[in-house]
Amino acid sequence: MNAAKAFFPLAASLLLSALLVGTTATAADAPKVVVSIKPVHSLVAAVMQGVGTPDLIVDGAASPHTYALKPSNARSLQQAQVVFWVGPGMEAFLQKPLASLGSNATVVELDQAPGITKLKFREGGAFEPHDDGDEPVAGEDHAHDHEEFDTHLWLDPHNAKAMVAEITTSLVAANPANALIYEANQKALNDKLDALDTEIASTLAPVKNKPFIVFHDAYQYFEHRYGVRVSGSITVSPETIPGAQRVSEIHSKVADLGATCVFAEPQFEPKLVNVVLEGTSAKSGVLDPEAATLPQGPDLYFTLMRGIANSLKACLS
Ligand SMILES: [Zn+2]
Repeated sequence: MNAAKAFFPLAASLLLSALLVGTTATAADAPKVVVSIKPVHSLVAAVMQGVGTPDLIVDGAASPHTYALKPSNARSLQQAQVVFWVGPGMEAFLQKPLASLGSNATVVELDQAPGITKLKFREGGAFEPHDDGDEPVAGEDHAHDHEEFDTHLWLDPHNAKAMVAEITTSLVAANPANALIYEANQKALNDKLDALDTEIASTLAPVKNKPFIVFHDAYQYFEHRYGVRVSGSITVSPETIPGAQRVSEIHSKVADLGATCVFAEPQFEPKLVNVVLEGTSAKSGVLDPEAATLPQGPDLYFTLMRGIANSLKACLS
């Protein structure tokens, strides 16, 4: 066993994992982990494979932009040893509940993970301006002390790897008994993320630089990584339905730019996309950046990223 471990560390840790799974000790040893949204939950679930399954807060077709915490989520947070979230710019609804958690829970804000690339929100032109109350108001207890960056960080596999490193470090610290399993899972996951990155780059190579319109400005990281070109968004804050003037501006933009495609998202008003398309030659497609239509689990991240790449390719080709 020692020799095997020395020569085949991955095989040995998988064996260890298999041995642990076979005992009743594992379930008791698994830390109680809670994750905010599906794409991040998928990465945490992959690192925890063979140890346990993390709880998910924003489940089903719900959107993190409009979510309200349920009593069952609050109970789950109360019992959590480790909580993973992106940060206040993405899951605003979690800010207060997390602040009131006891000190026995480790809260990991993944937008602070070392090695994460952050991009500023776009404003002006075809991107709806941001107005989330950042004007300082005298006497107001202002939560917006963070830099205004796009928080859809997971849509770049390089950022996913930085998150996975932070997730692994946090799980090892909270539950050192399973460190070997977490680390072996991290290594396997990094290899899969590298392969996914190469695959998506080749899927999208033929449709680089063809302009298209998206529902909300969620795709910068994807664009940045793969050289595809979003030329505008219908709304930047999915919490607010864009007004008639905004929709008519985007409509003219689609015509002016010769945008090939306008993409809806499963959670939001398809009617708006039809209005934007009217009288233009653009096609419509659907993108699902927050995985509203996908079942939770370790494979979700890969299905999500491939789904975006395949929808773009199908509509833009
Ligand atoms: Zn979003």
